[in-house]
Amino acid sequence: MTPKKKKAALVTGGAGFIGSYLAEELLSQGYRVYAIDNLSTGSLDNIKGLREHPDFNFVVGSIMDEPLMERLVAVSDMIFHLAAAVGVRLIIERPVDTIETNIFGTGIVLKYANRYDRPILITSTSEVYGKNEKTPFRETDDSVYGPTIKSRWSYACSKAADEFLSLAYYHEKKMRVTIVRLFNTIGPRQTGRYGMVVPTFVKQALLGHDITIYSDGRQTRSFCDVRDVTPAMITLINTPKAYGEVFNIGNNVEISIAKLAEMVKRMTGSQSKIVHIPYDKAFEKGFEDMRKRVPDTTKARNLIGFQPKIKLEQTIRDIISYYRQ
Ligand code: UDP
Repeated sequence: MTPKKKKAALVTGGAGFIGSYLAEELLSQGYRVYAIDNLSTGSLDNIKGLREHPDFNFVVGSIMDEPLMERLVAVSDMIFHLAAAVGVRLIIERPVDTIETNIFGTGIVLKYANRYDRPILITSTSEVYGKNEKTPFRETDDSVYGPTIKSRWSYACSKAADEFLSLAYYHEKKMRVTIVRLFNTIGPRQTGRYGMVVPTFVKQALLGHDITIYSDGRQTRSFCDVRDVTPAMITLINTPKAYGEVFNIGNNVEISIAKLAEMVKRMTGSQSKIVHIPYDKAFEKGFEDMRKRVPDTTKARNLIGFQPKIKLEQTIRDIISYYRQ
């Protein structure tokens, strides 16, 4: 009997925080992996442990490079599209790049996935709900954005445009496309460079710097361990009932940012001061933050049994030991 040929998965943004965990999970499930990353926010450090793996193929390049994307899509059986400008801070600092990567880049990836008839998983974000104050968010809830003169909304809008385009491909071209809206995802290797709160607090606590809570700290988030997120992504792309659907993926245990700061301080044994900084100083004048953000993950639970297992304390413990090393 000839051994079954391994399936190949393409991960765009494969050297990013989530992309690198996804690549690792795919390899451990017996896939061959092609990863592409332009190393703008991703890093070779993230994939250090994978480079030697015989089934891991890494390409430094841009998803805007159409001939390259076509070659990579052609040799892959499925596509996980994660390459994107991440987070609201980057959008404020580099708006043109961010909007173009998120909209045109996704357009290119979808075009070739369609041409070669490959299933594709598009990673979107809880930002898509905008400043809708409903909790928890269900996939059918409204997106509520501010005016275009506030650049922070361009991140949400660019990702929403990706979702519209993906769903259009599903309806018009019968493409096998699934959308996941990732809520706050954390784990070792995530950098605080782009503002993400958990690695920022851990680094500040370990270095004895002030722990910087923006505003009153009563805003809440629910954090999900990346190691709970990536297996769900693989299950979803292999689930035909998920095609043409949008799924919230995240944890629904809520914590305020002030509580999070105390927790990090306690768990690191840090002497850092916890301080409050107004949004205007941290971002730009008139910055609007979400007060609450919790996913309703019933849809993913019903279809694929999605249920995060790793507790916040455990993830933070792992992040602390990652930074201590
Ligand atoms: N935040 C904070 N201090 C920081 C970084 C972030 O208080 O140093 C707050 C931020 O204003 C937000 C929450 O923590 O209310 C989560 O921020 P993050 O950027 O991690 O994710 P997102 O805003 O996308 O949920």
